[in-house]
Amino acid sequence: QAKARGRNGYRFYAPSMTGEGVERLRLETFLRRSIEKEEVFLNYQPQVEIDTGKLIGVEALLRWNHPELGLVPPFRFIPLAEDTGFINQLGKWVLYEACRQMVRWQEAGLHVPKIAVNLSVKQFERGSIVSMVADILRETGLEPQRLQLEVTESVIMNTGDAMAFINDLHKIGVGLAIDDFGTGYSSLAYLKQLPVQTLKIDRSFIKDISTDVNDEAIAIAIIQLGKSMNLSVIAEGVETDEQAAFLLRHGCNQAQGYYYSRPVSPEDLLQRWKS
Ligand code: C2E
Ligand code: MG
Ligand code: MG
Ligand code: MG
Repeated sequence: QAKARGRNGYRFYAPSMTGEGVERLRLETFLRRSIEKEEVFLNYQPQVEIDTGKLIGVEALLRWNHPELGLVPPFRFIPLAEDTGFINQLGKWVLYEACRQMVRWQEAGLHVPKIAVNLSVKQFERGSIVSMVADILRETGLEPQRLQLEVTESVIMNTGDAMAFINDLHKIGVGLAIDDFGTGYSSLAYLKQLPVQTLKIDRSFIKDISTDVNDEAIAIAIIQLGKSMNLSVIAEGVETDEQAAFLLRHGCNQAQGYYYSRPVSPEDLLQRWKS
């Protein structure tokens, strides 16, 4: 089984050759105990204003470090958690931890304006999402306006009651962003019916933004769409100075990506941004 030690001292999980079914079952069994064993944690990736470099928010990103498997990437364990229903417990843990971290930073003297938390489609299917969010905000004391939930287009298109849920979330004051915008199949009609505040341009369009005319056209179109609908637009996966300059030139002043920072621990975030 391949396990390489990464820069930060983590071993990275690579599936063994024992067969897909066995491997899946093993992962599933381990995953189910990950919360109680305190193997899950959050990293936070800064979101910045391009022209000033100011911190405008962070996105919470879930990590799972298993003692035997090493660091398992989200694309391996999140779909599994969705299939098994464990995502509900996991999602609740993430939301609580993220909101509490905002309060901890505040107490340590760092004001992070906003935290973005990813929601899975399965969390909407369970129904009680609105009361869960409201409870967590009350318990942690975080102002609802400082929480932004991220959903993909497919969440909106595939959830029967998404509209109702999202309107209820809006009523309690939390913000909504459409993640990976442009990659899902979607009707733009929902945009004008939903209380969405933010579009996140998917990383795939940013990657070759200054060399691929199609990606360039799509990015510009999303920025324009956001402008005319009064939505804020943030680009994800910004890795270079050129990409940032391109975005700014075309009227997008918000970015997130390795150019600014990788996702980091709460301590590292505090150290870097506390003035
Ligand atoms: P996402 O929500 O679109 O998150 C952005 C992903 O892009 C993150 O990957 C982040 O590390 C990566 N990224 C950010 N900047 C750059 C860059 O400049 N270059 C490149 N190559 N990548 C960049 P990560 O952390 O592996 O997460 C992958 C996906 O897993 C997320 O995509 C999200 O869909 C899901 N995910 C992560 N945490 C959670 C969670 O708590 N709940 C749910 N439901 N999904 C989560
Ligand atoms: Mg996201
Ligand atoms: Mg995204
Ligand atoms: Mg993405």
